[in-house]
Amino acid sequence: MSTNQTRHILIQTYGCQMNVYDTEIMWRLLHPLGYRAAASEKTADIILINTCAIREKAEQKVFSFLGRLALLKQNRPQLIIGICGCIAQNQGKTLIQRSPCIDFVVGTHALFQLPSILDRVWNGQHRQKVYVDFEDHLIDVDLDHSPIMNTDISGFVTIMRGCNNYCAYCVVPYVRGREMSRPSDNIINEIKHKVSKGMREVTLLGQNVNSYGKREGMVSFSALLAEVNEIKDLLRIRFTTSHPKDLDMDLMDAFANLEKLCAHIHLPVQSGSDQILKRMNRKYTRKEYLAKIDRLKNKCPDISITSDFIVGFPGETREDFDDSLSLIRDVEYDSLFAFQYSDRDIAPASQFFPKVDDKIKRDRLIELLDVQSKNTLKRNDRCIGQCHSVLVEGKSKRDTDQWTGRTSGNKIVNFIAPETTNNLNAFLVDVFIEEACAHSLRGYLCHMK
Ligand code: SF4
Repeated sequence: MSTNQTRHILIQTYGCQMNVYDTEIMWRLLHPLGYRAAASEKTADIILINTCAIREKAEQKVFSFLGRLALLKQNRPQLIIGICGCIAQNQGKTLIQRSPCIDFVVGTHALFQLPSILDRVWNGQHRQKVYVDFEDHLIDVDLDHSPIMNTDISGFVTIMRGCNNYCAYCVVPYVRGREMSRPSDNIINEIKHKVSKGMREVTLLGQNVNSYGKREGMVSFSALLAEVNEIKDLLRIRFTTSHPKDLDMDLMDAFANLEKLCAHIHLPVQSGSDQILKRMNRKYTRKEYLAKIDRLKNKCPDISITSDFIVGFPGETREDFDDSLSLIRDVEYDSLFAFQYSDRDIAPASQFFPKVDDKIKRDRLIELLDVQSKNTLKRNDRCIGQCHSVLVEGKSKRDTDQWTGRTSGNKIVNFIAPETTNNLNAFLVDVFIEEACAHSLRGYLCHMK
């Protein structure tokens, strides 16, 4: 592509941090070729939708956006529309049958072919073509040569893709493939590169980071963390997501031994009932999960623990649901994400019965969130009167007199500092916490490091 042929792209991203990172990869592949960000749908030559198939709602959002684009394309037939991500991988050519405004479909395994696919589509070839294969995707093709333009103070780096766990409700193993880890050298290089551009906190991403390197016989996840901990000018490390069955002692020790590793773990439990955990194919019991939580709290007494719950999984009785509520009360999570179960046609649980009535699912979700909101407030209240180390991310959007950042436990803190204070962006500062709110803490600057 010649440089005087700037193509303006809008990439609309749905779903989890993995998709956000994949969008970043697309930019890293496309920007050196002269592609630039379009200011809006109206000025875009190409619109790419990076889709999420994990829940019915996420899928509905994609199709409603596509409906809008179909209207746009009636007035601008030259507009190119592409679909990538998990729905692309899962539905392939049926997407084009359902929405003929789509010009091409790129599955998760073909992400790195995007530049050549776009070139062909732009030149009028291969319209309405589908690039979906099921081979183990190449990880890192050309990534080392693709520049990192900008980076936020807090950024993502994917360390592995795919999942081997086959939880009964989940589409990830089918749309993202088997687990595949990046070589640790590539990961370290990417983090160093991002740190040189201003990143100070990295979140290592994977569907199940605890099994990092196992299939390839590479270093363990805790050994990788120790390597990342040595990177100069990097201030903090986070990771997500951990599968409870694979959480081992080495990783728990890392919370006690690595000074840059934040005191926060997201440990999705999904249900507090052994009967439901078994049907979900989660491969741990409530008792085993609680034992790991106890060990974590012993190793790192200040650790924040967050989780995911699914309500209304097929066969969930009131007693099963009560087990989830009691688990939430026992663990005292700092916060959690909870979702109503929805059938995903390629996941085995879509064939599980009896289904739970929609109204019961809705009522249970409200009840569960209500129990958790009391936990969250209680956990936030404990911070009052303490000094917390906060990585500053900028001025508060709501109140520009205040700064904002996060504690090691991942709680948002808005705080005031003397007017004479220099720019605090990207610094670790100590903040004295005066007030706890439902979703954040408030305080004042007491010390800069
Ligand atoms: S661990 Fe289970 S829920 Fe998580 S991505 Fe793998 S299959 Fe899905």
